[in-house]
Amino acid sequence: MAANVTIKAIEANAVHQIQAGQVIVDLCSVAKELVENGFDAGATAIDVRFKNQGLDSIEVQDNGSGIAAHNYESVALKHYTSKLSNYDDLSTLQTFGFRGEALSSLCALSKFSVITCTQEDAPRATKLEFEMSGKLKSTSVVSGQRGTTVIVEDLFRNLPVRRRELERNIKREWGKVINLLNQYACIQTDVKFTVSQQPTKGKRMVLFSTKGNPSTRENIINVFGVKTMNALIGMDLKLELIPTTGPLDKGKLKEGATAEVRILGYVSRPVHGEGRQTPDRQMFYVNGRPCGLPQFAKVFNEVYRSYNSSQSPFIFADIQLDTHLYDVNVSPDKRTILLHDQGQMLDNLRESLIELFETQDVTIPVSQT
Ligand code: ADP
Ligand code: MG
Repeated sequence: MAANVTIKAIEANAVHQIQAGQVIVDLCSVAKELVENGFDAGATAIDVRFKNQGLDSIEVQDNGSGIAAHNYESVALKHYTSKLSNYDDLSTLQTFGFRGEALSSLCALSKFSVITCTQEDAPRATKLEFEMSGKLKSTSVVSGQRGTTVIVEDLFRNLPVRRRELERNIKREWGKVINLLNQYACIQTDVKFTVSQQPTKGKRMVLFSTKGNPSTRENIINVFGVKTMNALIGMDLKLELIPTTGPLDKGKLKEGATAEVRILGYVSRPVHGEGRQTPDRQMFYVNGRPCGLPQFAKVFNEVYRSYNSSQSPFIFADIQLDTHLYDVNVSPDKRTILLHDQGQMLDNLRESLIELFETQDVTIPVSQT
């Protein structure tokens, strides 16, 4: 560096944009953050609407609590959240969100607006518009029902490289976002979840929806069809973990005590595969929170392939365990979950899966030979 340069602070808006770009990295992160806010608001209906596969707009409407007028000013400010106030809260947190970063990031990266209405205010809703910084710019009265609609238009409009990247990879991004929404739709019971898309020219089409079912089984049938469900077996695996000297107990498990991990869900019957099943039908959750668990997927696939080498299984697996056995605060999008002592869980899982498959009839039906 030349000696005559001056070190100076980056302009506040630019800092905001750079940081926002770490929370909202692609189409998936927009959908994920908005849908999770709907669930956190206690919604029983969530409607996700794309225009031009999200390149023009993404709208998420919920019938949850709505936002009260005294929060309009702070709702999109960075690190303003109604869900967490101190670091100790993290371990007992029941909500998806807790950082107060999503709406503030979306203000910096798109044309962003909110229409919201609480129970008391209905049918008088308020449309909120924001500055890039997340500061409230204007409010206007519109008609509406209880709940909140968040509208994100022209994503990455001020980050030309990111925008071009999105347009170029839209096919792949679109596949990813639909998988992610499938994942939320299947796990959330008692919520009507609808996803629709409208091309630039043409009619809006519903891509899939659930009906507010009381069970994940019915959700899976709504999303993937009854034929898929008929090829699955229920799974309720119990893995006993022994405390080790590793981080498993974090001082919380007593000598001699064990921790129980339960894996609930569905997996393809070893021979009755549809033949079309692809890895995108592999859905993992930790305590109902959708996440990517590549190591778990690997064990499932390996065990499954020892019975049926030509197909990959459909997997819907919710790993239920005590909150002190994992950490969600690892990556900004919270999709990476750190499971303490994962090795032991995986060894146990392998054994339990083999046991599950062994008790199934693995002879190939005549019709499939
Ligand atoms: P976080 O979810 O981490 O709190 P967000 O930036 O996603 O941060 O949202 C900020 C705040 O705005 C939330 O804490 C919540 O109070 C409010 N909010 C956001 N979306 C909704 C919604 N759909 N319904 C009601 N309140 C919402
Ligand atoms: Mg949130």
